[in-house]
Amino acid sequence: MTTIPENLGNESIRMLQALLRTDTQSPPGNEIRSAEVIREELAAHGIESEFLEAAPGRVSIVARLTAANPTARPVLLMGHIDVVTVEPEKWTRDPFGGELDDDGFLWGRGALDMKCQVAGELAAFIALKESGAALTRDVIFVAFADEEAGGTYGADWVYKNHLDKIDAEFAINEGGGTPLEIAGRTFYTCQAGEKGSCGLKMTVRGLPGHASVPIQGTAFQNLSKALERLDAWQHPTVITKSVRLMLESLGNAIGGDLAEQVTAILSQDSPDWSELETLPLPDDYKSSFKAITRNTTVPTMISGGKQLNVIPGEITVCIDCRLLPGADPDAVLAEAQEIVGDLAEMSFLYETQEVGIEADPASSFFDAIQATMSTMIPGVTVIPTLISGGTDAALLPGIKVYGFYPFPSTDRLAIYDPLVHGHDERIHVDDQVFATEFVYRLLWHVAV
Ligand SMILES: [Zn+2]
Repeated sequence: MTTIPENLGNESIRMLQALLRTDTQSPPGNEIRSAEVIREELAAHGIESEFLEAAPGRVSIVARLTAANPTARPVLLMGHIDVVTVEPEKWTRDPFGGELDDDGFLWGRGALDMKCQVAGELAAFIALKESGAALTRDVIFVAFADEEAGGTYGADWVYKNHLDKIDAEFAINEGGGTPLEIAGRTFYTCQAGEKGSCGLKMTVRGLPGHASVPIQGTAFQNLSKALERLDAWQHPTVITKSVRLMLESLGNAIGGDLAEQVTAILSQDSPDWSELETLPLPDDYKSSFKAITRNTTVPTMISGGKQLNVIPGEITVCIDCRLLPGADPDAVLAEAQEIVGDLAEMSFLYETQEVGIEADPASSFFDAIQATMSTMIPGVTVIPTLISGGTDAALLPGIKVYGFYPFPSTDRLAIYDPLVHGHDERIHVDDQVFATEFVYRLLWHVAV
């Protein structure tokens, strides 16, 4: 049994508070401010760390606990220390004050995304060192700059220039650990992959003319038909490894009719959404579930027309296209072209397309996450999942990254949901303490 150091939770809260008091809004970033806090915490416990500076102030920080006789490749505790910007006048409290309120909430930009996990990982990393445990593999801690804006000055740069400092077999990151109540039981999602993205550009042309005389065949008329077709486009269901294992785990845990339903769904190449829709998933999870079982195409930007009285000959629309792991961007582009036919011309918006990634959901590390959770909440089941958005995980090919930072109950999820990238971001200290303890226990599982 792992003994939890008495001060672990308080240390984690104290470190989170210190991180929240550094302003690392990106742009411009200034992640060096948080990195300095982390460096001091590590130094106070005799742990050396290194700044990896991609551009002035854009600092990622890395540290390592070395195993004397390693029997496996390292594990990596990863996170990011940049945060999205704030509109301070819309906050009830100072977004960089790190205030603790009477109800036990710690306030500040990054409290949820994701200085909480950085602090939890840091506290667990330091406690592991203090425990004096003999490690079976190296444990690496890294806090990246520049996640929110794509990782050019953070994970991507570190991977391309200093891979040796972070290379690991497995990593733990943001993106999972969310409890879901399904059929009266509690499940925790573990992010085992994420979708890729490629921007599509749709160019619609038509007859130009004087707007005082209505004509047929204009770009706007073609656009409305093309958008209707795009909206009606039913992307086929694709069940990737993670979602397959997720459904199997649900079926096994709940049994009965659900087990039969899952077997029926998984026996088909491309089950219809109407079948997936009847799974007893929480209603507020259903649109996410739909997004992780198909490619998606959502128009987001439009430009065309310069003058009120001129019918424009061309309009362009940008389409945010999210691809499942394994999906071929060229094939999706060709399908999109087929959908709109000769109403419009489809092309890629950028030169390179981001493909989706998927860590092996059936791994010893995933099993360790499950085993650790079982000791903390008996009877709980961890299910792998994909996320529809992106994190730094996609920038670290070769490292199996799992998103997991669990909170003890579903109680506060409704409070948290709108706070990520929103106003009044805050975390309850009970959640921070629980999740920190999880990281510490997991490290004992996989590295001692
Ligand atoms: Zn984040």
